[in-house]
Amino acid sequence: MDDPESLPLAELANWLRYYRALGFTHLYRRKPQPPIPPGGDEILSVVAGAGGRAENPGAAPSANQLYLSAALPVSLSPREAAPPKPAPQPAVPVISSLPPSQAGTLFDSVAPRETLGQVRDDLGDCRRCKLAKGRKTIVFGSGNPKAELLFVGEGPGADEDEQGLPFVGRAGQLLTQMIEKGLKIPRPDVYICNIIKCRPPENRKPERDEVAACRPFVERQIDAVRPRVIVALGATAVEALLGTHQSMGSLRGQWHEFHGLPLMVTYHPAYLLRDPNKKPEAWADLKKVLALLQSSAAGEQGRTAPGAVSG
Ligand code: SF4
Repeated sequence: MDDPESLPLAELANWLRYYRALGFTHLYRRKPQPPIPPGGDEILSVVAGAGGRAENPGAAPSANQLYLSAALPVSLSPREAAPPKPAPQPAVPVISSLPPSQAGTLFDSVAPRETLGQVRDDLGDCRRCKLAKGRKTIVFGSGNPKAELLFVGEGPGADEDEQGLPFVGRAGQLLTQMIEKGLKIPRPDVYICNIIKCRPPENRKPERDEVAACRPFVERQIDAVRPRVIVALGATAVEALLGTHQSMGSLRGQWHEFHGLPLMVTYHPAYLLRDPNKKPEAWADLKKVLALLQSSAAGEQGRTAPGAVSG
């Protein structure tokens, strides 16, 4: 890859899309180095983690070295791995024109994706935050591990804590209606989880340290399922996943992005129970989700299409 600063924006954007398709989500650039002497090679090194080193640790880094964070060490030659010339794209990414490719990538071929079972095993009998003291059950998540649609809520309430399943109380019943009557998808075909896995006392909003302790697990759940679309239900989910404190009114109904996946923001069903006047807005949000799912459903293998019953 040429010096990014010398590339036209459109070409640079194509490279970034290419690396994202490979599964890389963070790019780190070294400080400016002296010019490369004539004949010096460009080197592209892909290393594990932001603090990792190039595949040839003894060699002085080239000014054009790029360090990419990834789950496993991979080395690619930019010439061997040159991306196909994509069609011209708009300068500003328009998330509504997604979905990104869900087909197997080069990254998949060298690093099998973590499974939900592995994430759950790692969570174990979690005591990472103070919510462990008051819970009955860890409410990990439920649904199709290969779901195209994944919902993320805030945290378990009393019913969920009792049953160990997410969204089984009144708000859960409304969510089930939204999924099954609105989207016409059997609930078992989607995946549902929460930002935090243990019930906060008196159903209070999770505190910052609790979200920080539990967030890595929902992130790994999303990466394990790798759905076509994520729906963030309510402010806590939105703040945790998108890192923004903007109002729900300004965020809902818009496509956002999480780990390269389109993410729709809408109201939490518990809020809709308190304010039924907001239901039409929530339904408008879900119609956008449905449209995106339908537009991208064809041609994929190994997944359960929306509306199909999982086996
Ligand atoms: S809320 Fe999450 S981090 Fe805290 S104890 Fe429960 S599982 Fe662990």
